[in-house]
Amino acid sequence: MVKFITREFKTAINKLKYPDSWFWIRYTINPYSGCEHACIYCDARSQRYYLEQDFENEVIIKADIDKKLELRLKRARTLLPDVIGAGGVNDAYQPIEEKVENTRKILKVIERYGYPLNIATKSRLIVRDTDLLERIGKHAWCAVGFSITTTDEDLASFLEPHSSPPHERLEAIREIKNKTSNVLVGTFFMPIIPYLEDDDENLTAVIKESKKAGADFVLFSPGLTLRDVQAEFFIKKLENSKYQGIIKPLLSLYRGKYYPSRSYMNKIHSKLLGICEKYHVPIRIKRWIPRDFRKWNYKLSEILLNHEYMKSLRGKPDNAMKWAGLHLNNLGESILDVYKRGELAKLPNFNNNIIKFVEPYLERSKELKAKKGLERFL
Ligand code: SF4
Repeated sequence: MVKFITREFKTAINKLKYPDSWFWIRYTINPYSGCEHACIYCDARSQRYYLEQDFENEVIIKADIDKKLELRLKRARTLLPDVIGAGGVNDAYQPIEEKVENTRKILKVIERYGYPLNIATKSRLIVRDTDLLERIGKHAWCAVGFSITTTDEDLASFLEPHSSPPHERLEAIREIKNKTSNVLVGTFFMPIIPYLEDDDENLTAVIKESKKAGADFVLFSPGLTLRDVQAEFFIKKLENSKYQGIIKPLLSLYRGKYYPSRSYMNKIHSKLLGICEKYHVPIRIKRWIPRDFRKWNYKLSEILLNHEYMKSLRGKPDNAMKWAGLHLNNLGESILDVYKRGELAKLPNFNNNIIKFVEPYLERSKELKAKKGLERFL
């Protein structure tokens, strides 16, 4: 039996130093603490999250979180609209949401203030809020990702005992896709557990079924982090199951670290890339672009980060490019103005290669052309 506790929290929303280049999330909000879904691999069990309670047996319902969010957004002199990610170390649509509606109330505030949203879930309950998601998408931007890592229902019920089964998540993709025209919906194919979910058959099935359901994207990430308490919990579950045979090869793949070897990652990445190409499935989400001075900063950041991602998938990560892309999100003026002053080299991590890479995009920007046009009359 899960115990539910209602508790006040001081802050409703947290700002990240940089948006991540997968989900493009800048702010996070957690309607609950703890998660009834109780996935046996869940990273939230690891000590790095400092959760005080028994993660899956005690769920804290955050009292008046929508009112606190509204208050924060109302007084948001220091906040610029950006993508809010709801749920992270919990699922915003875990079963208690049906009764409490913390997530639905939050979405209403997000809609009122015109913020974009990216939400990940393993529950078909999100379909209830399709109307709100569509309006958020229409007035700002909305992406919904269903975490699906296998189409094997039996394996899924072992790994994710209280989530909607994979076929229901695929059905939910189909439903949201059919009922909306402004919501990006797809699959978060992560974590892909070595020796349980990384065979060709499963990799193909998840991508092919997602595509059939109408997915706009499949984001994939092979491997599973194995950290402290989370690793112990997961291995113990495997020991008492019919999957105990994978423990030995799994531990040798991890070599005492919390992630699998680079050669393993490269091998699975190239398989996933090949399958997504075959089924014409995008592997990145088209980013939300603000209309203010950040427009070109965000566009170029997306281009740089996506380009770097493709390089790293091919085993050639480019740290300078990655950091140039990330830092651009925090630039306090438009990169077009920096470019016009001839000061691109002053931006963090903008070396010669990166300047050469971005210049053609800047040259093609309509805004720059328009300004150049006007300058003729000065
Ligand atoms: S749904 Fe997500 S947060 Fe909840 S237990 Fe599963 S992995 Fe953890």
